[in-house]
Formats: sequence, C-alpha cells, structure tokens
Amino acid sequence: LDATGENFTPEELDIERALRPLSFDDFAGQQKVLENLQIFVQAANLREEALDHTLFHGPPGLGKTTLAHILANELEVGLKMTSGPVLDKPGDLAGLLTNLEERDVLFIDEIHRLSPIVEEYLYSAMEDFRIDIMIESGPNARSVQINLNPFTLVGATTRSGLLTAPMRARFGISSRLEYYSTELLSGIVQRSAEILRVPISEDASIEIAGRSRGTPRIANALLRRIRDFAQIKGNGKIDMEISKYGLHALNVDAHGLDDMDNRILTTIIDKFKGGPVGLTTLSTAVSESSETIEEVYEPFLIQQGFIIRTPRGREVTDAAYKHLGRTKTDLQGG
Ligand code: ADP
Repeated sequence: LDATGENFTPEELDIERALRPLSFDDFAGQQKVLENLQIFVQAANLREEALDHTLFHGPPGLGKTTLAHILANELEVGLKMTSGPVLDKPGDLAGLLTNLEERDVLFIDEIHRLSPIVEEYLYSAMEDFRIDIMIESGPNARSVQINLNPFTLVGATTRSGLLTAPMRARFGISSRLEYYSTELLSGIVQRSAEILRVPISEDASIEIAGRSRGTPRIANALLRRIRDFAQIKGNGKIDMEISKYGLHALNVDAHGLDDMDNRILTTIIDKFKGGPVGLTTLSTAVSESSETIEEVYEPFLIQQGFIIRTPRGREVTDAAYKHLGRTKTDLQGG
C-alpha cells in the first residue's frame, strides 16, 4: 500500500484494471484537466486528426494511465502501452511505431526514464511522423527513412523535473494531476464497491477515502482490504464499524500517511530538530532517493500542511508535531 504503488501483486493489478474508468464520464475529479482534454479530443475527432502529444505528470496512482486509456477510447483508436525502462533500444521503439495505425495512442509510462538514444529517436517520430531505420548489415548497411501514421504519444511521469527540455517541448498538451479531495475519493470508493458488488455505507466510504493519501489507487486498495474484513469478520457489508476495525488492523494512519511519510516527518524532528534540512541530507537519512522524496512524498506532506519548503530546506510544521503526538518543547529539553 505504499505511495509509489510499485509493490502490487499481479492479481491486485488485475482488480485495479477492472476498477479503471473507461470514459470521461466515469472519471472523477481533475476537472480543469478533463474539460480541456474533452475539447481537444472533440476537435481532433472533428478534424479526423491525431490528438496532439499529451504529457501527464504528478504523483503515482492519480490516474495518468487511466487517462491514456480514456483518451484512446474517446478518440476511438487503438492503444499501445510501454514504459521508459522497457524501451532500451531504438529498434524496440521502431517496431512499436511502425505498427501504429492512424491516430492510435502510444502510451509511454515513466517517460523520464527513456535512454538518451531512444529519446532522441522519438523526437523525429513525434515531430514529423518519420523515423530512420537501418536495413541490411555489414557493408550494405544503410539507413532509410520511413513514414509513420500520425499518432498521439501520451507520456506519463512522476518526475517532471527529470524530463529533458527538448522532450517537454514536443508535447502540445501538458497536464498536472492533483491529489483528490476526500469527497471525490469517497465517490470513487462507492463506484468501486459497486463494481466489486460489496455494499458500503456512505460514512464508511468517507472514512476510507480520508485515509487514502489523496490517491484513488490507495483508496481502491484499502477498499479491497476492508472488504476482506467485512467478509471474514463482519456480515459482508462495509459499515463504519468494520472500516474502523480494518483500518486499525492495517495500521493505516488517520491521515493515510504511509511508513515513508511518517519516517520523513519523524526523521526531520528527531535528527534535524524539526528542520530546516536540505533534501540530500534528508534523503540519506531516510534511505530514499531525493527525486522520490521530492516528487512522490513531499507534495502530499506539503499539501496536508505537515512540511513547508523554505530557502534553507524542509521544515516540519506544528501540525506534524501534533499528528505524531509530539511537542516541540520535549525536543528542546532533550
Ligand atoms: P497512475 O498511472 O497515475 O499511477 P492509474 O491511472 O494507474 O494511476 O490509477 C490507479 C487506479 O486508480 C486505477 O486503476 C483507477 O481504478 C483508479 N483511478 C485513478 N483515477 C481515478 C479517477 N479519477 N476516478 C476513478 N478511479 C480512478
């Protein structure tokens, strides 16, 4: 259940797919992003053109992959999926690109992790729908240019800061996804419960939503775990009582903070007297990369008011002390 979403089993990923909204109408929240996308899709459909290349950035589990699926559905085109680390040779990319049909969507997850060679190769494909490929080998080897069908590249990244400027410049549409409110998440939990055919009370859906770190993926994961508790320890229905019981048993924090969130806060308090502490120093102290802290953990802690960024580094707020049941004076004494 950690915020990076990288520790899911294949079975969990299957359920996640079943819960994935398939159209703009099913997708909750991100209103501004959605309104714009709807217009761009309508216009592209009207002109029978490929949609402009689109970049989604923001923390894991907020709906980037889901939106790529929705775009393909709403454009009524095919979708091919890959990810930055998987595409390690230009040849792999050439194979994908030459198989795209007109207006298809090519989704590249973790696009900041493309190798520089593959990235450079992608530029002409994105810009002119053309690529060079090598044919034959040895003394006859030569490169020929081939035309591609116009397509839409949809890129997703949690680390927009790591995207190169030329890459960024090639996206006509760029949208940042935000954390979801408890209200929106509770709607998502109710929708998912319906798909999973488990009855849920409204207050229970709000309780689960409030502990989901602003993230639909976590909300759905918690719902599935609570469903287990309801079936084994309860009467099969998810009400407030079984939710509280389950959330307690799962050790889920009242704000939905995960272990790393809490580790970051306690480390700043215990080792750096509440801060300010520089990102690199903090990264070493909690054994997590500074990029992940900056792009996955910190945005939520800032949004929740537990951390502030100052010119001298990160500082925890009074709310963080309160959340952890600590007082500042304790520390100054010892
Ligand atoms: P990302 O690609 O940003 O890591 P995903 O698109 O894979 O996130 O979303 C994770 C899961 O959360 C999806 O399976 C989907 O069920 C759910 N989800 C994400 N955004 C929404 C949304 N706006 N409404 C309903 N469910 C959502």
